[in-house]
Amino acid sequence: MTELVETEYRDLKPWALPGGLLYGPFPTRRKGRALGVNLLPAGEKVCTFNCVYCQCGWTRSSPLKSDGWKALCPSLDAVGRGLEEGFAGLLADGNGPDAIVVSGNGEPTLYPEFEAAVERVRAARDRWFPGVRTMVLTAGTELGREDVRRGCDRLDERCVKLDAGDARTLKRIDLPLVPFVLDDLVANCRRLRDVTIQSFFTRGVVDNTGEPAVVAWLDRLAEIRPIEVQVYSLDRVPPAKGLRKVPREDLEALAERAGRRLGIPTHVY
Ligand code: SF4
Repeated sequence: MTELVETEYRDLKPWALPGGLLYGPFPTRRKGRALGVNLLPAGEKVCTFNCVYCQCGWTRSSPLKSDGWKALCPSLDAVGRGLEEGFAGLLADGNGPDAIVVSGNGEPTLYPEFEAAVERVRAARDRWFPGVRTMVLTAGTELGREDVRRGCDRLDERCVKLDAGDARTLKRIDLPLVPFVLDDLVANCRRLRDVTIQSFFTRGVVDNTGEPAVVAWLDRLAEIRPIEVQVYSLDRVPPAKGLRKVPREDLEALAERAGRRLGIPTHVY
C-alpha cells in the first residue's frame, strides 16, 4: 500500500501558493491558457473547506478561526490597479490568456468586497482581453449571501464544487470548517444564473466512488440541474496521505452516468 501511494504521488505535480494577485497563464486541459486571479492574501490559504486533495495544502486560516487574514487581502484599489497593470503587461508580452479564473489561495468569495472585485475583473477584461471568458471556482459555502451570488452571476461561468451527494462522504473529503448543509448548497446553486458542477473523485483512505455515494451524488446533481458536470481525480500532490487516483475509464463511466441522467454535457479532465 505504501509503495502504491508513493508511486502515485510521485506522478503528481506540485503546486506553490500564488504569491500575488495574478498567476499564470498556465496550461489547463479544458480552458487553454488560464490566468488565475487570487483575491486572498499572498502565500496564505484561506478557505471554508479543508479538502483532503487540495493542491494548496491544508487550510490554516478559516473564517471561523480568526479575521486576521482579511487585513492581508489586497485592497479593492490594489486589485483594480493590479488587474489593469498585469493585463496590460501580459498583452504587451503577447502572453494573453484564453480564460480568466477567479480562484487562488482558497475560497475566492471570502474576499470582503467580492462583488466589487468581480466588477474590476470584468472592466480589466473588457479593456485588455475582450471576449476572453471569466469564471469563478467556488466551494459554494458563501452562496447564501445575495452579494456573493450577484458577483458570481456577473462572471461568464460559475463552477461550484460537489464532491459528494451525502453529508457523511462530503465531510470525509472536504472537511468543512464552517457549518455546511447540502440542501442549502443545492438551493443556492439553483438561485444562480446557471452553474457548472465540478466533482473530485478519489479512492484509498477516502473513497467516494462506491455505489451508494455515486447514487447520492447523482441525486444531488439532478436537484441542482447544472448546465455541465466536470469530474476529475488527483492531479497535484495532496496534503492527505493514502489517496489513490481514480482511473480515467472509471471517471468516464461516472461522467457518462451523470450525462445520461441529466441530459447535459459532462467532461472528464
Ligand atoms: S475548496 Fe478548493 S481551495 Fe478550499 S480546501 Fe477545497 S480544494 Fe482547497
